[in-house]
Amino acid sequence: MSRHSEVCDVAVVGGGMVGATLACILARAGIRTVLLEGRPPVREWSENTTDLRVSALTMASRTVLDTLGVWPSIAARRAEAYRFMKVWDGDFGGQLFFDGADIGHDVLGYIVENRVSVAALWDFLENLSDARLLCPARVAGLESAEDGCTLSLEDGNSVLAGLVVAADGGESAVRSMAGMNVKGWGYRQAALVATVETGESHNETAYQRFLPQGPLAFLPVGKNLSSIVWTSDTDTTRGYLEMPESRFIEELEHASAGLLGSLALAGKRASFPLKLQYAPDYFRERVVLVGDSAHTVHPLAGQGANLGILDAAALAELVVAARASGRPISGASTLRRYERWRKGDNMAMMMSMDLLDRFFVRFPQGFGHLRSIGMNVIDKTGPLKNFFNRYAIGLRGDLPALAYGKACW
Ligand SMILES: Cc1cc2nc3c(=O)[nH]c(=O)nc-3n(C[C@H](O)[C@H](O)[C@H](O)COP(=O)(O)OP(=O)(O)OC[C@H]3O[C@@H](n4cnc5c(N)ncnc54)[C@H](O)[C@@H]3O)c2cc1C
Repeated sequence: MSRHSEVCDVAVVGGGMVGATLACILARAGIRTVLLEGRPPVREWSENTTDLRVSALTMASRTVLDTLGVWPSIAARRAEAYRFMKVWDGDFGGQLFFDGADIGHDVLGYIVENRVSVAALWDFLENLSDARLLCPARVAGLESAEDGCTLSLEDGNSVLAGLVVAADGGESAVRSMAGMNVKGWGYRQAALVATVETGESHNETAYQRFLPQGPLAFLPVGKNLSSIVWTSDTDTTRGYLEMPESRFIEELEHASAGLLGSLALAGKRASFPLKLQYAPDYFRERVVLVGDSAHTVHPLAGQGANLGILDAAALAELVVAARASGRPISGASTLRRYERWRKGDNMAMMMSMDLLDRFFVRFPQGFGHLRSIGMNVIDKTGPLKNFFNRYAIGLRGDLPALAYGKACW
């Protein structure tokens, strides 16, 4: 008989934003959870640096994290609220302006550095008696048996779990080991990210300017500090990455049309290739997918992590309910309910982002003015605009209890 170094109810593989959120909720609910992460995350940094990776977190995500008890620690580190969002067409002048107050909210969302969310979640997890953190721990093999699923680790140890959650990102090894496939396509676009100091204040506004090559977003991360996400075709992005800093700043100032005054780079530039990818099935036997391992969406409207946090809250709610009613936590009925609950919402968001990309970025040449007309029509049509506004802050559809501020434990 093989010996396992850890035995638990749920093993979550991947301690990024989504896996760590899930592990926190499960352990908070008294489910014995092991979180395995291959790469130790950055948990301390000097005050005057900013993570290259930031996420616009919706009100729904904030409520999940707040109800869990993690949000105060995120806010204490740094979370920049934005009350307004301005989206406009660089060529034909169409524009959309969203104000949280129009739908009864003080803010539309928060820009949070990914390292901040992850550090706060890991701190929280370390204080939960039903949680175990294994890091560095890379999963090298997976075997399903009657009494559970065994994960073999690269260091020779193993974990026996009733349920294994693949939260190991878009290239999920656990998903492949479980024999689950993905579909999708690459966009032949890449997103350049960097932090910039701005001559003028962002005025609590997230900006997105649509240019012929793709959108350029300025996300407020601090006083006179914004994180940019600049989407272009892969060759153009490579050019922006490789050009000298002074030339890059010139290009950026030109592309932003002086929006935030003079600009200066506050760190490195990096880029990420963009793709649409989804798993047709969210579970197989005792293995279930959450976050980017189940769906990778275009970052156009900053929704990937938000969808993943809702996956985590929904799956945890169903696992906790199964345990409370004496049903197996990895039962097909529980996992099928999770799949039905989240797949529709995730697919709808993924396809909306794809449509937006086609409409705003790959619109047929010569018809760009129609895009501007579309923007202006939405901007002037109250109910339609409020629909998009609610969609953007994540308060839509059938949300898990935690997103309404109700504990599931
Ligand atoms: C440019 C850009 C901008 C974006 N902006 C936003 C935004 O504004 N808002 C938003 O909501 N989303 C945004 N996203 C999407 C968001 O970043 C992702 O959806 C989110 O990070 C996915 O989180 P995850 O935890 O599922 O996966 P990941 O963050 O990829 O985490 C996976 C973790 O698993 C670990 N791992 C991998 N393999 C193994 C293994 N074999 N064993 C153990 N551990 C393993 C990895 O080390 C990693 O820590 C953006 C994406 C991009 C590219």
